Amino acid sequence: MAVLTILQKLEILADAAKYDASCASSGTAKRNSLGGKGLGSTEGMGICHAYAPDGRCISLLKILLTNHCVFDCHYCINRKSSNVVRARFSPQEVVDLTLAFYRRNYIEGLFLSSGIVKSSNHTMEQLVEVTRILREEHDFRGYIHLKTIPEADAEIVHQAGLYADRVSINVELPTDSGLTRLAPDKDARQIEGAMGRVKSDISELKDAHKRFKHAPRFAPAGQSTQMIVGADAATDADIVGKASRLYDSFGLRRVYYSAFSPIPDASAVLPLKRPPLIREHRLYQSDWLMRFYGYKPTEVMQATEADGNLPLDIDPKLAWALKFREQFPVDVNRATREQLLRVPGLGVKAVGRILASRRHRSLRLDDVALLTQSVTKVRPFICTVDWRPVLLTDRADLRSLLAPKTEQLELFAA
Ligand code: SF4
Repeated sequence: MAVLTILQKLEILADAAKYDASCASSGTAKRNSLGGKGLGSTEGMGICHAYAPDGRCISLLKILLTNHCVFDCHYCINRKSSNVVRARFSPQEVVDLTLAFYRRNYIEGLFLSSGIVKSSNHTMEQLVEVTRILREEHDFRGYIHLKTIPEADAEIVHQAGLYADRVSINVELPTDSGLTRLAPDKDARQIEGAMGRVKSDISELKDAHKRFKHAPRFAPAGQSTQMIVGADAATDADIVGKASRLYDSFGLRRVYYSAFSPIPDASAVLPLKRPPLIREHRLYQSDWLMRFYGYKPTEVMQATEADGNLPLDIDPKLAWALKFREQFPVDVNRATREQLLRVPGLGVKAVGRILASRRHRSLRLDDVALLTQSVTKVRPFICTVDWRPVLLTDRADLRSLLAPKTEQLELFAA
């Protein structure tokens, strides 16, 4: 077998890592500058962006330690039976790359995941070794996000949390039956058991750190997970229910949703087409409704259509408001924060500004218009001193009036 250079390995293992959504930007048009045309690319992999615990957007070197894998998850391009070019870094090679990129100011941290070589324990030890060398031998203080392997021994996963800022364990699929069918080597109870232990380690060491200044920290940026959307029959209602249970049970910082993308030589049990990317976007919007807008999971599920999926043409907040029109209009000058947060078109910042401004004067429709991208979307759901929607809120065709217009393609556009 030909010996690969570091650059060749980097190309293979950065490309293989792009399927992980935990710090990805997706949903945009594909552009690149191949052949010397133009500048920049939206397809590039290798460096991704994530938000640090203090809210800063940071760039991370995003790679796999290896794309060899002894598991055979149907949806994964790196599965045992997949016919892809394989590569493997040694822990020291990952350390050297991270430090070299960091010193050149290309990155502020590392996102490291891996296929499973030899055994879960062996792979997890190698991942931990990368973080140990970085932290102990080089005093590396940059951000580290480490994917951990739920099948590995608890003690090794614990070590990972002592070095990494964030650890994540993928639940992979929204339902246990989907996991059994599409990832036969994985076990839902094992995955949730590992997440439970990470949760206890985080809270135990957080408490210890409050009492003893020198107590070690454990994953100070918390844990996250990822679910693949559209590879099995799970509906958005199933996915919202699962995400909410994961947030509650394991104190997750984030659940990431990754639209399944068909892979070369795909297994026959997978759908032929990827779900529309907008479905992933609607799930992120529903996630925000639960985390920042005070919606209960059951309320988000009420926004779904008869097939259990969120509508694609309108956002879930608007879908909910259209179903529960009796809750509107709300008086912008009197409503509570919770009521204002339910108004389609008003975000958390806009609501904060409304609450601050109305202390000094009564707000008019023009004042609200300054705080939103589309006053047309807001108008049917609010009253101000100079505006009442009268019959607008109850119009049968309100949905079609508010749904974003689908763009007409230009016949002769370049
Ligand atoms: S264990 Fe991970 S890398 Fe291996 S086949 Fe499954 S999803 Fe892919």
